[in-house]
Amino acid sequence: MQKIVVANPVVELDGDEMTRIIWKKIREELILPYLQLDIKYYDLGLPFRDETNDQVTIDAAKAILEHKVGIKCATITPDEARVEEFKLKEMWRSPNGTIRNILGGTVFREPIILKRIPKPIPGWAKPIVIGRHAFGDQYRSTDFVAPGPGKLEMVYTPADGSPATTMNVYDFVGKGVAMSMYNTDESITGFAHSSFKMALAKKMPLFMSTKNTILKKYDGRFKDIFRRFMTSAQYKPLFDDAAIYYEHRLIDDMVAQAVKSSGGFVWACKNYDGDVQSDILAQGFGSLGMMTSELITPDGEVIESEAAHGTVTRHYREYQKGNETSTNPVASIFAWTRGLLHRAKLDGNAPLTAFCEALEQACVEVIDKDGVMTKDLALAIHGQNMKREHWVITDVYMDKVKAKLNSKLNATAK
Ligand code: NAD
Repeated sequence: MQKIVVANPVVELDGDEMTRIIWKKIREELILPYLQLDIKYYDLGLPFRDETNDQVTIDAAKAILEHKVGIKCATITPDEARVEEFKLKEMWRSPNGTIRNILGGTVFREPIILKRIPKPIPGWAKPIVIGRHAFGDQYRSTDFVAPGPGKLEMVYTPADGSPATTMNVYDFVGKGVAMSMYNTDESITGFAHSSFKMALAKKMPLFMSTKNTILKKYDGRFKDIFRRFMTSAQYKPLFDDAAIYYEHRLIDDMVAQAVKSSGGFVWACKNYDGDVQSDILAQGFGSLGMMTSELITPDGEVIESEAAHGTVTRHYREYQKGNETSTNPVASIFAWTRGLLHRAKLDGNAPLTAFCEALEQACVEVIDKDGVMTKDLALAIHGQNMKREHWVITDVYMDKVKAKLNSKLNATAK
């Protein structure tokens, strides 16, 4: 079979533990035999991050900005126990945080839908793509315990020397708590761009949720900025052409609507709402092993894709003991296809698009049509009645995916 030529490079970010083992097999068996691809490789495995004082993470993020496509394996975010385990020089920061700070943009999670897997919310037939505005609000707030009676005020002092504004917040008559938080027009605007671009890429309607009935000025600002986008010359014609729309929703209405819906929309969430709702969606669609994650920049040019789950340490410990492991590789495979689909879009490479779609279909059909799956999915189907014959180890599943991919590619080549 002739390899598909990919004209421009992609940036690969290797990772840790169980996902690193699976990652290598994906690259070598499902990607490289089919594509003539220039990979800019960065090893974000924790030992090399430590060796380079985390410079490798910064270099990788810069390379993603340059080449516009990053494909990332899950990585360990060190805590005290990891510092001890790996004898680290420092408790390095989360690579995802470092990369997001350099790239900007918004992370969207999307489930891969399977017919066979019973969902806690059975109506969800189509994916719900959820984006979290990962800047400001509670996560950058200043919170405070008031030790006793006292006056709480908020002061804004303009940088241009004009008079300060003092707002009376509360007169404490006893002990209590208080908090002050902020966001910026620049960040909300970037969030809106990323959300509108993602809706266009997925050809799905877009909803943005706030509690603007209570936070009239704060959440009202989010609502106003998004509304301006909908009527803008930049997005209105594109949304009309794609026959999609944007609507603002109150967060409580949105949650109710999401539960009753059949899916098929992009949901832009404020920071805290996104934190909570994305975990509800991950559970609602069955398994973390079937959830992808894409970081998209406000200009829509740069994408970094990865699985939404971590390095699956529990399975790696079994692997280290020589025991069989049945880790679901689907979201990691989709990290590759979603990144390569963006490459295909930027380069206008139709054969690459077709290859990615065939590989994604192969992953789903092996589970849905052939009933061959990893243990997490078998457990979602059979629960306590699950038996050993209901699941296969990772390698067996991936070999089936490769065989199915080959038969698809051979069929289209004829
Ligand atoms: P995890 O996502 O690795 O695993 C949590 C649980 O979910 C596992 O015990 C397993 O039961 C299940 N699970 C997740 N993915 C699965 C898959 N593909 N197949 C089968 N089951 C799966 O999260 P964790 O255990 O909290 O963290 C492990 C490590 O991953 C930590 O060091 C953490 O820092 C890191 N992490 C990295 C990322 C990332 O790189 N994006 C995200 C989360 C956690």
